[in-house]
Amino acid sequence: QTLGVADTMSAIVQRVRPRASHRRIVRRMSDEDLLVNVDAALFDLVLVNVLDNAIIYSDDGTSIHLDVGRDGDFCVICVSDEGQGIPPDDLERVFTRFYRVARPRPSPRGSGLGLAIAKGFTEAAGGRIGAASPGPGGRGTVITIMLPLATESSPA
Ligand code: ATP
Ligand code: MG
Repeated sequence: QTLGVADTMSAIVQRVRPRASHRRIVRRMSDEDLLVNVDAALFDLVLVNVLDNAIIYSDDGTSIHLDVGRDGDFCVICVSDEGQGIPPDDLERVFTRFYRVARPRPSPRGSGLGLAIAKGFTEAAGGRIGAASPGPGGRGTVITIMLPLATESSPA
């Protein structure tokens, strides 16, 4: 399936917004109409989970940024939050099935599958996914998803 990333992301953000409470979701989309060849239902599942994580693991009143742009032949989707962040040792492990970061305070219920599914989906599509917590004191999380852009020769 060929998906227009901007339109698809806009629809996803509208659906997630009610759960964001007083967190602001700020979208920065490139003007280009970026197209990717992926399964629409899986794309939706993955992006909803990443946005839900940004909501769940951050405080009310903070901002979540969604950046969609292009880097060479890839569409780059970044979801950034101002939450507690992921400790350096856990940045790779959060993509493992059932892995959840141990927190001093009890964290909301979850199965630890969301990011493992996201990694499986992204890599199957020929892309890459990564996590970083670049803020002061390791706060804030950025999930970066890179998906190959659909080319003229790709099947529609
Ligand atoms: P679910 O399967 O319901 O999504 P989950 O949210 O715990 O459960 P993942 O989405 O795979 O599972 O995330 C794995 C773990 O990574 C989380 O338990 C959490 O500890 C950590 N994590 C994920 N996203 C963030 C984020 N934006 N900020 C801080 N920690 C995060
Ligand atoms: Mg999750």
